[in-house]
Amino acid sequence: MITVLKKGTSDAQMQTLIDWLAGQNIEVHISRGSELIVLGLIGDTSKVDMELIESLDIVESVKRVSEPFKQCSRKFHPEDSVIEIGSEGTNKVKIGGGHFAVIAGPCSIESEEQVLCVANAVKAAGATLLRGGAFKPRTSPYDFQGLKADGIELLLEAKKATGMPIVTEIMNANHLPLFEDVDVIQVGARNMQNFELLKELGKIDKPILLKRGLAATMKEFLMSAEYIMAGGNEKIILCERGIRTYETYTRNTLDLSAVPMLHELSHLPVVVDPSHATGVKSLVAPMAQAAVACGCDGLMIEVHNDPPHALCDGAQSLTPEQFADTMGRVEKIRRVVEGI
Ligand code: PEP
Ligand code: MN
Repeated sequence: MITVLKKGTSDAQMQTLIDWLAGQNIEVHISRGSELIVLGLIGDTSKVDMELIESLDIVESVKRVSEPFKQCSRKFHPEDSVIEIGSEGTNKVKIGGGHFAVIAGPCSIESEEQVLCVANAVKAAGATLLRGGAFKPRTSPYDFQGLKADGIELLLEAKKATGMPIVTEIMNANHLPLFEDVDVIQVGARNMQNFELLKELGKIDKPILLKRGLAATMKEFLMSAEYIMAGGNEKIILCERGIRTYETYTRNTLDLSAVPMLHELSHLPVVVDPSHATGVKSLVAPMAQAAVACGCDGLMIEVHNDPPHALCDGAQSLTPEQFADTMGRVEKIRRVVEGI
């Protein structure tokens, strides 16, 4: 249930209503927009007297919300969320609400030389965040599993050298202490419904890049975001990375309709990853352009200094030159979109 308060409602009046609802075991999520205050009522609202709330002087309207996701719903929070990223010594990056960001870097962190080379190159080409996997979710247990804690150390070195905030994937909540200085924690497609991990990430105050599961519906995707938000962490960036279909020429099928659909359903920023979505380097630039054309808030692109020798995902990794060319193409589409 959502309750929109009239303009000019004082904090004390709002608190009286919140206390009354708390007495009925209803938790209230407050969303303050520039014009209105929207209260999201969370809990069993079936016994709450809707007419009574509607009759209060301070209440503009009351609506029952049918979607199971609440805090990530645009009905609860009509304005776009802007996620602020960055820590001491890094550039400050915003994403969402008209702020566009590009996350780029290798699939996996392999060596100091590799991560620094790629970090400097993607920064020069205009990327604003550096990615790199240290804990890798691989289909085969015999494939490279990532440099783990050492990989995070190397990523931190690259952060220091370039001033770029860093993004890396977590697979186990027990590893959280290693992520202390990581700016954005990624939840990979395979862990989108690892609810215990999502609950732990709900308790921290750090942006989370949540990737869509391989076979997840948009509702399931948003319910996973809801798990993190229900714990108190509202800094979530959604990432469309393709879904599994019967197609085999591409690694996955990029569902671009998810971008405008998620924007309609939710206030959270939506980033597109054309690298994992296609698995084919020649498709990365066209799909990045298409994603920008349909309004995504950012991109995530894999870049490697020596793709044929990459320890993971070489076939979809761009060289620094190809990445710079892609950025130029993306920029042109962005100018058109901004002018619409
Ligand atoms: C990744 O971004 O490194 C990754 C493993 O992607 P996904 O979880 O989307 O497969
Ligand atoms: Mn990868």
